This record gives sequence, structure tokens and C-alpha cells, in this order.
Amino acid sequence: MSAKALVASLAHPSELVAIVKYLSLPTPPPPKNVSPTYTLCYKFLNDTSRSFARVIQELDSELRHAVCIFYLVLRGLDTVEDDMTLPLKRKVDVLQHFHEYLYQRGWNFTESGESEKDRHLLVGFDAVIDEFLTLSPRCQEVIADITKRMGHGMAEFAELESPNPKHLISVTTVDQYNLYTHYVAGLVGIGLTQLFAASGLEADSLDTPHGLYLANRMGQFLQKVNILKDWLEDLRDGRVFWPREVWGKYVKEVEEFLEEKNRDKAVQCLNELIVDALELVPDCLEYMSLLTNRSVIRFCAIPQMMAIATLATFFNSERVFTHTGTKIRRGLAVKLILNSDNLSSIQATFRQYALAINRLNHQRVNPAKKGLVFQGKEAGGFLAVSRVCAEVLRKCDQKSLVRADSGFVDGNSSGGNVVIIVALVAVAIAVAAAGKYA
Ligand code: CA
Repeated sequence: MSAKALVASLAHPSELVAIVKYLSLPTPPPPKNVSPTYTLCYKFLNDTSRSFARVIQELDSELRHAVCIFYLVLRGLDTVEDDMTLPLKRKVDVLQHFHEYLYQRGWNFTESGESEKDRHLLVGFDAVIDEFLTLSPRCQEVIADITKRMGHGMAEFAELESPNPKHLISVTTVDQYNLYTHYVAGLVGIGLTQLFAASGLEADSLDTPHGLYLANRMGQFLQKVNILKDWLEDLRDGRVFWPREVWGKYVKEVEEFLEEKNRDKAVQCLNELIVDALELVPDCLEYMSLLTNRSVIRFCAIPQMMAIATLATFFNSERVFTHTGTKIRRGLAVKLILNSDNLSSIQATFRQYALAINRLNHQRVNPAKKGLVFQGKEAGGFLAVSRVCAEVLRKCDQKSLVRADSGFVDGNSSGGNVVIIVALVAVAIAVAAAGKYA
């Protein structure tokens, strides 16, 4: 924890308390009597991911190693996908065959660009393969299957012809946007769900079409938030993941969002895509309500909570178009981590951020401030945000489906939020109508 993180939380005493609490928690002890390749894999894990390393290591032991190896395999695949120094033909070939390399002892990859930050993972990939081959046949099958599907999906997008030669990747339609996020993240949710069930920590009933559907949506939610947040960084790398079908309604070329005079349009486009991401949240909440193992719940909830907190930070903000690498305060992240233990505090966090986004939505179209100019597209945007926030709140208030034996308390089923939802929708309609006839 850096001093900078502490300073950033100075004005938020509850975050400072959370930081102190978090720092005093014991870190999980490293397992004893393990092979050198096992140790190396956890070194790779800690090197490649700050955020996931800890939650993976806090998983119950039945699941921990399979998820660690799954993570490293996909991280390797992603390093190939992101490497813009590889010739396209070679890249596509490696992506499409990556699942086969998992069964080839000794395979490694040394062709990554020198500046690829996870290059060393691929150079030492034979250790990951050795550990992959120690997993149960079912876990191997799940990991290899997801790797195959993801690798083919990434290859498909790498080969897409971009209408603008400056862009190496350019997503055109909303369908493509949904498909890409399915390939690179929805599939992770699906594979994890299958590993949860295979480990016996979660019921087999999770690994059914409905459970996998929800898992896919959960992965897509995380990926969409990243795609929204990283717009500027991706653009600089020549990658445009925001679908042209959406931004094309606001500007001719996506670079126009960089210009000061187009900031309003840029922010409206961002808000539209935030609504699209928020549509996934009720299914994410439903997925988490199906889980029973405490370590699995935390593992799933932490990134989800960070994602909705991030959306609340970026909603209606120009920051996405002017700054790269903005993150939620570390102190806030820690506070969220400490609140991820049970379904009712997870639901409370989602409720809090849905209300925060809704509040920003009202401020944004405050008729007094805007001189009652509020019509057409803007009114539609306002209603869309109100509606999706109400959907999230409604889901937060559903009685949790947690089993009695898991020791979690039911989510409070207060009628208070029903009143809030009704009020939200009523106000939304009234404001929109006022705008129309102003
Ligand atoms: Ca990537």
C-alpha cells in the first residue's frame, strides 16, 4: 500500500479504517512441499496480476491451483493477442493452437516483443504446462476448451478488416462488441463456473445452461467496464473496442471525441455505453445469489464491486477522454474487498452505486441549470439511465437465495426501496415530459 493511496483516502475516514483492517489481515501461507514449477507459477501469478493474485490465493484449496493455472494460461494467450509486434499470420496461428500447446511438455514462446510486460510468462510457459498436467482430467478439459474457444475468437477479431487503417482492431456493430466481450471475458466466467462445480465447492447445478448464461454476462460486465475505462489508452494503441454503431451516432471519426468542442457528445456516448453495461448487472447479482462457498463468493464479488464503483466514477465524466490509467482509490477498493463477505453487503454496495449513478443522472439534466433545454436524444438518455438503475435496485431487493446452511444473512427486504424505485421512475417520466414540452 503506497503513501499516495493513503493520502488519496484522507478525506474518506471509512477507507482509512478499511486500509488498517486490511493490512492487519493475515495473508494466506504458501503451501509446503511443492515442486519448483508450482512455486514458479505463483511467482508468475503475483508478477502478472496485483488484483487477482490475492483473491485467487484466498480460494479454498480444492479450487485454488486450477484457477491459478487457468489464469496464467489465459494471461499467456492475452499476451499473444495484445502483442502488436507479432506478424498477423503468426499471431493468428499461435492463438488458434494455444490449447494444443497445453499438452506439449516443454513448449514455450520466445517471440513476444521485448516490451511486452508479461513476456517472461511465455518464456517460462513450460512450468505452467507441467502444472496444468497435474490437474484433474475434468479441470484440464475445461481449461483447454475455454482456451480453444477464446483463442479462435481472438484470432477472428485480429483478422477483422478495419475501415480505418490507423486502427488495428475496430469493432463495428453492437453484436460484435457483445461477441468480443464474450470471447475474452464471458468465456472466463463460463470456465470458472465449470471449475467451481468440478471442485465440489459449488453445486453441479451451477454448470447448467442458465448458470453459464449468467456467468457469461458477469464476465462481459467486467470487460465492458474495462473497455469504457481504457478508451484513450486503447485508442493510442490503435484499438477501438467501442462499437462504431454507437459512437457513429455522435461523431464521424472516433478521434473527434478528443476535441474539446465535442466533449458533450463524447460524454453522451459514454453514458449510453454505461447503460449497456449496467443492463448486465441484474444477471451478475443473480449469479452471485446462486453461490454458496464463501471464498467463491468473494472471488466473484470483488471484481464486480470494483467494476460498478468504477462506472459510478466515470458516469457523465470527461475524464475517460482526457486521462489514462485512472482507477478507483485504493482505499475504496480495500473497503469493497472487506464488504465482499456476504450477499447482503454485496447487494448493499450495488444499491449504493446504482443510487449514486441515478443521482448524477438527475444532476446532469437539472432543468434549472440547463434552462429547460432537455429534449430528444438527451431525454431518451436520461430515461435509459433511470430505468437501468431501477432494474439494478429491484434486483438488489430480491430476497437472497442463499442457503440456510451457508451462514449468510438474508438481504434485507425493506419496502423502502420499492418506494424509491417508484419515485425514480415517476420523476424520470415527469422530467422527460417537461423537457419535451418546454
Ligand atoms: Ca487483450
